[in-house]
Amino acid sequence: MDKNYDYLIVGSGLFGATFAHQMTKAGKKCLVIDKREHAGGNIYCKEIENINVHWYGPHIFHTNDKEIWDFVNSFVEFNRFIYTPVANYKGELYNLPFNMNTFYQLWKTKTPEEAKATIDKQIKANLVKSPKNLEEQALNFVGEDIYLKLIKGYTEKQWGRKGTELPAFIIKRLPLRFTFDNNYFNDKYQGIPIGGYNKLTEGLLKGIEVRLGVDFFANKQELSKQAHKVVYTGKLDEYFNYSLGHLKYRSLEFDHQVLDTENYQGTAAVNYTDFETPYTRIIEHKHFEFGKQAKTVITKEYPQEWTTNKEPYYPINDTENEELAKKYKKLKELEPNLIFGGRLAEYKYYDMHQVIGAALHVAKNELNVR
Ligand code: FAD
Ligand code: UDP
Repeated sequence: MDKNYDYLIVGSGLFGATFAHQMTKAGKKCLVIDKREHAGGNIYCKEIENINVHWYGPHIFHTNDKEIWDFVNSFVEFNRFIYTPVANYKGELYNLPFNMNTFYQLWKTKTPEEAKATIDKQIKANLVKSPKNLEEQALNFVGEDIYLKLIKGYTEKQWGRKGTELPAFIIKRLPLRFTFDNNYFNDKYQGIPIGGYNKLTEGLLKGIEVRLGVDFFANKQELSKQAHKVVYTGKLDEYFNYSLGHLKYRSLEFDHQVLDTENYQGTAAVNYTDFETPYTRIIEHKHFEFGKQAKTVITKEYPQEWTTNKEPYYPINDTENEELAKKYKKLKELEPNLIFGGRLAEYKYYDMHQVIGAALHVAKNELNVR
């Protein structure tokens, strides 16, 4: 059978769209399919009340890599947004990430020296030589007060597991700093696309054939036959029909609400860090773009275990699931015309800039090889 395409790309998220863009630019013919009715994967925004609503959770672009920053800015201009979420613990408000403002709110410490002394004392009280899980890592990193008020409840809701059952790396994502600086990220570049993320997706996919509402598994053989290579960005275990067992994912339910008020919480994100509040955070979308619309849209985020009818958002990178993922990746090596990429197919807790970096890298390799 004649091959109509060089690449069939399953998934129009950042991995699929970036890869498709690079290969099309190099003269390759790509077909992108997505089972959803829109492109963009989890960065998709829905316009409600003239506000770009981050439909699958809040997305803040941040990177240290100038090449990746220039790449995304070549499709859409980014604004000056800096993520400064606030934590609400049982009605008390704290700045995040853990910085001099947080320490003052917790202990009234006014200098870095005072704050360091307080944290060091708490770290010493629970010191573990080589932290093996998130709880040990957090206690070694910030001490008990911060762990109990700002980490434990949020983390156990988010992951549905105890801090002692989670990998330490998750908490290493958060900065700890002894300056009055509420910027959640340390990266050099940060912002939100002006006009929303769909502009980025549209730029990446411009001039490329995209078929929406098409599930790869409804027609796997026929679709695969049309291209020389398949680039797959869906769930790793699903590709192999779960033959070695199910990988675990964490899912979320988003409760989006339009409110007849101009400014509901004064910031884009408030994290509810106690265990009892059933949601982890409330997002107020207009603040990503400094909106002044008459109404507002908020989203409450409820974490839950993934089951077949839900969206898989986060891989659970504990030892058991990592082992299984490794076995699936071995199966993939038997298929030379198959490329796996992105958060789901690589089973990796990737941020957007990392997904773009990975897609650019794979595209470069492909162009050298063929
Ligand atoms: P996805 O965006 O998941 O795209 C995969 C696509 O494949 C989907 O569109 C899906 O419909 C399609 N697909 C799957 N299976 C099939 C099939 N069988 N047939 C056809 N199509 C299929 N990153 C940041 O940098 N900053 C943030 O602030 C941030 N916040 C986040 C908040 C949340 C709640 C979540 C879940 C993630 C966040 N991320 C953030 C991570 C970011 O979303 C990802 O890194 C990135 O969007 C992943 O892109 P992807 O292409 O790998 O996957
Ligand atoms: N976290 C926390 N308290 C917070 C925010 C985050 O304990 O207020 C923990 C939680 O375990 C989370 C991890 O830090 O999974 C990483 O947070 P990040 O904001 O990077 O998670 P994301 O939502 O981007 O995946």
